[in-house]
Amino acid sequence: MNPGYELPLDEAAYSFGFLDEYAKREVRRAILKAVSIPGYQTPYASREMPMGRGFGTGGLQLTLSLIGPGDTLKVIDQGSDDSVNAVNLRHFVELTCPGVDTAERTAEATLIQSRHRIPEAPLTEEQLLVLQVPYPDPLVVVEPSEGKRKIMHGEGDYSRLLTKLYEDIVQFDEITISHRYPTRINGHYVIDPSPIPRYDVPRLHQSRALILFGAGREKRIYAVPPYTVAEPLAFEDVPFRTEDFREEHGNRRACARCGAKDSFLDEIILDGGEKTYQCSDSDYCNQQLAMRSAAVEASA
Ligand SMILES: [Zn+2]
Repeated sequence: MNPGYELPLDEAAYSFGFLDEYAKREVRRAILKAVSIPGYQTPYASREMPMGRGFGTGGLQLTLSLIGPGDTLKVIDQGSDDSVNAVNLRHFVELTCPGVDTAERTAEATLIQSRHRIPEAPLTEEQLLVLQVPYPDPLVVVEPSEGKRKIMHGEGDYSRLLTKLYEDIVQFDEITISHRYPTRINGHYVIDPSPIPRYDVPRLHQSRALILFGAGREKRIYAVPPYTVAEPLAFEDVPFRTEDFREEHGNRRACARCGAKDSFLDEIILDGGEKTYQCSDSDYCNQQLAMRSAAVEASA
């Protein structure tokens, strides 16, 4: 991604990006394979990072292998730039990658590492999205043997997964999966798209940005390359649907802070037990708020 950068020769004696050059090269090789076979879970030698597995070590290894001076990094957790996990990951990259900028604005970032959300603002071909993955294999809920799962993936046999969705419909009248919705990539491999809400799944389809998934503990990397077909598993008579945030009268709820009616909303329970809703993407919420106050000023 960044040809010709040199390692900083500082006192800390860390490699640029913490990982040694061999580790980064191996991750990049796995990324190339993952991009070549969309949706295929490519194994790689996940390194020990100075943080616990489960805190985004897979995503971080992708980020550190790809980032270079001149890049601008945005890190979000549940849509927010300010949550502890996002702040710590961003700080770690700042420490180990001199020359890298960080940003909160989605449009300014060249590389976005995220947990649980895809940003509301549409991504571009110049951007790269890294998603942190706890469980890479969608078949793990129906087949405990990894060997058998590999055969099922190879044959594109997802009948047991579809049976599981069907059982949901029989029992609850709808598919109850809220996060990690199984999604077929490029007509073959079904992926676990990481714990993004259903609302974000359509953003994988024909995405302009390259989307990479990193599972550090499970040692897997997979990809949805730009302009690739991504179809959530569903049935002809029970189509896939996303959260619609309608209240009892059928109206779309708005963000209590910025008033947006086109964003994924978090439910917040106030002290009195009352519920309120706010954009989960904090940058989007700030942008909407700024636009609205500018409009108010202009009309005043
Ligand atoms: Zn908002």
